[in-house]
Amino acid sequence: MEQAEAEPARGRVTRTRLTEHVPKAKRCTVIGGSGFLGQHMVEQLLARGYAVNVFDMRQSFEDPRVHFFLGDLCSAQDLCPAVKGVSTVFHCASPPPSSSNRELFYRVNYLGTKNVIETCREAGVQKLILTSSASVVFNGSDVKNGSEDLPYATHPIDYYTKTKILQEQAVLDASDPDGNFLTTAIRPHGIFGPRDTNMVPVLVDAARKGKMKFIIGNGKNLVDFTFVDNVVHGHILAAERLSRDSSLCGKAFHITNDDPIPFWTFLSRILTGLNYEAPKYRIPYWVAYYLACLLSLLAMLLSPLVQLQPTFTPMRVALAGTFHYYSCEKAKRAMGYRPLVTMDDAVARTVQSFRHLQRVK
Ligand code: NAD
Repeated sequence: MEQAEAEPARGRVTRTRLTEHVPKAKRCTVIGGSGFLGQHMVEQLLARGYAVNVFDMRQSFEDPRVHFFLGDLCSAQDLCPAVKGVSTVFHCASPPPSSSNRELFYRVNYLGTKNVIETCREAGVQKLILTSSASVVFNGSDVKNGSEDLPYATHPIDYYTKTKILQEQAVLDASDPDGNFLTTAIRPHGIFGPRDTNMVPVLVDAARKGKMKFIIGNGKNLVDFTFVDNVVHGHILAAERLSRDSSLCGKAFHITNDDPIPFWTFLSRILTGLNYEAPKYRIPYWVAYYLACLLSLLAMLLSPLVQLQPTFTPMRVALAGTFHYYSCEKAKRAMGYRPLVTMDDAVARTVQSFRHLQRVK
């Protein structure tokens, strides 16, 4: 169900008795803490001794150590109780990129994020860490070892990404070391790992329907896929290194596995790990791209008569057929980032966690 239609039950829903002694510097709120990344963030923060509030429009797990607050991040009234008394806020909430609701993206990612900034400031929060996306610099053509100096995309691949750009700009512009409000943005790419509700389930579903037979392009395009624990590690390091004099204030950082992999090799490793066949037929990139453009045009022309939502879109072709990998050197220098989990371990742990989806031979 899309969020515009979902009405969250509002207010605090659980209360912990375990966090009274935690100093303010280790009190934080995870906005979007019920999501895939958010849940992993909560777990690692708890493991590192933080007291954690979760703010989300849904509650997806129970943990007596966590304060849950249900609400819409666009509402200051909903959000305020969840950020009161904490020093750090992690904002990793967003509508799913697959949604076609542009108004929802604008409202939540842009206007909602402006509300997050204002509410944090008014509540005396000192640090705001945004989960942005490396796609904010991706125009649909090759990016090889891209640094944070690349300009924002002038032709973002979709409207979701357009609003991620607006969101990141708003957060970085709000950094105010003199006013004791510090912000930074983490740009992950292709997050995967246990409990992902998007990448692996969608891949398996496509394989089951016989849709994973073709490789777009020559299959050599390198892409970043980033294990969720590494992404979380980057966020927590950023929060801990963010200070008035640090080079993190008002800046964005790529966080990757530092090990780009051919897009089709990664997909094939997940698929074969779960007993599905790897794609083996090749289709030239430009053929696939123009076919997808044609389908989108057709869907647009027919839209007064019938609502078609092609899954084979130019954006998906670009994501599957181009190089897009990013340098994380800046994060290494500024915050001492190193990926904690290697690509081999990450793939093995992910496959293991999705055993229930494997094809029974
Ligand atoms: P997710 O959909 O699993 O989690 C998002 C959470 O945000 C959900 O729990 C949802 O309920 C919550 N949410 C959405 N709108 C809300 C609102 N109005 N008020 C309160 N809560 C709301 O997504 P994810 O994959 O965990 O992504 C987390 C973040 O990482 C997002 O900002 C996304 O843009 C970014 N990102 C994800 C990837 C990826 O590959 N998954 C890549 C780059 C960036």
